[in-house]
Amino acid sequence: MTVLQPPVQKNDYYDVTVEDLTHDGAGVAKINGYPIFVSNALPQEKIKIKITKVKKGYAFGRIEETYKESPYRVNAPCPIYKQCGGCQLQHLSYEGQLVAKRKQVADVLERIGHLKDIPVHPVLGMDHNPWRYRNKAQVPIGEREGGLIAGFYQQRSHEIIEMKDCLIQQETNDRVVQTVRGICEKHGVRAYNEKTHKGVLRHVMARYGLVTGEVMVVLITRTPDIQNRKAIVEEITAALPEVKSVVQNVNTKKTNVIFGDETRVLWGEEYIYDYIGDIKFAISARSFYQVNPEQTKVLYDKALEYADLTGEETVIDAYCGIGTISLFLAQKAKKVYGVEIVPEAIEDAKRNALLNGIDNAEFGVGEAEVVIPKWYKEGITADVLVVDPPRKGCDEALLQTIIKMKPKKVVYVSCNPATLARDLRVLEDGGYRTVEVQPVDMFPHTVHCEAVARVELK
Ligand code: SAH
Repeated sequence: MTVLQPPVQKNDYYDVTVEDLTHDGAGVAKINGYPIFVSNALPQEKIKIKITKVKKGYAFGRIEETYKESPYRVNAPCPIYKQCGGCQLQHLSYEGQLVAKRKQVADVLERIGHLKDIPVHPVLGMDHNPWRYRNKAQVPIGEREGGLIAGFYQQRSHEIIEMKDCLIQQETNDRVVQTVRGICEKHGVRAYNEKTHKGVLRHVMARYGLVTGEVMVVLITRTPDIQNRKAIVEEITAALPEVKSVVQNVNTKKTNVIFGDETRVLWGEEYIYDYIGDIKFAISARSFYQVNPEQTKVLYDKALEYADLTGEETVIDAYCGIGTISLFLAQKAKKVYGVEIVPEAIEDAKRNALLNGIDNAEFGVGEAEVVIPKWYKEGITADVLVVDPPRKGCDEALLQTIIKMKPKKVVYVSCNPATLARDLRVLEDGGYRTVEVQPVDMFPHTVHCEAVARVELK
């Protein structure tokens, strides 16, 4: 094979038309098929770019001049949009985001999964208000002029930039974080310093139950002790009556992983409650809970529709978290087995089954790829198998067990279209057919994209 020379040179200027968006929200233009990534550029835009970096298979460029704007371009409403990087698509109208996300799913199904002509439906977006949706804030704490600041890490840096207001965050969480920050500052708590590995308060987390209005505060600290802890907790609960639980998590390690291993309740219960549809959930500090509760209902309703239960089925819910999907399905199934790796989440799942009087759901702790093969050996099989894995997708061992077990239906809930496409290919080769895919927008203004696939045994 001949190695082609890149058709562009560093610091040169080119006129291009943007064709696509990458999975991280950059524009893609092509010169003789050679891709150039241009930050902040949108599909359909005609622009002049300056090449900033040239690699063998691709280059980076910067917008120098815009000749024609995308009809979907808007001014990003957030003043710190560029520094933060938490949202990547605020310069694209919400309508434009939904169009882009649908295309992203359809493209990877074809490119990575070699799946052609699969119906990918228009994205189910937030039709009411696609802002202020996040029910969880995890905010790093830093210091400035002796005081504490709560904010975010500037993109590609370890500098904390102060942020009092985040447009995709529930206002309650912003208020809770600022109040907790102020109380800790008043009591002389020092912020954790990454470089010196000294100081105490690393992160403040606030989680808000949209339906119940209940709030959990988690103080993530380097040391088990917090000076004036008792007074701090008293002042938090006095200032914020919606707070039902104050928890401390100790992370002694030099790491950018937020949580440590030790969690203890400082005040109130070890969980807060929320509802999705009619089902009530207890949620503890370490458990995964979808961050956009309004869209979670939309997502789970779609999963339920694709599971198409009659009441006679045995269902396995892999990666079940606190049992959210399991309990949704249990109302319509004969029996549901859920499996999840985080022990606290499984405790929550069991509690949640009891809380809702659901007695046909059973839960197991462990890796789905270990527990489900074990269940299969013991004779537990499923008519419908639901998977909702983290971004890295399903483990190969799990996919192979599904292929052996042969559930009639697989419902694949995915937060990463690329691994969804990869895994659907494995299932297709193992005798399954992808019937349709429904993207659901759980994360407006970010590049993240959720989708549910309906998969059936051929
Ligand atoms: N279905 C749930 C959770 C989905 S998030 C919901 O909608 O709320 C994915 C979950 O998979 C997380 O709870 C995570 O802890 C869990 N997980 C990650 N790797 C796992 C593995 N190998 N086996 C089982 N669960 C795993």
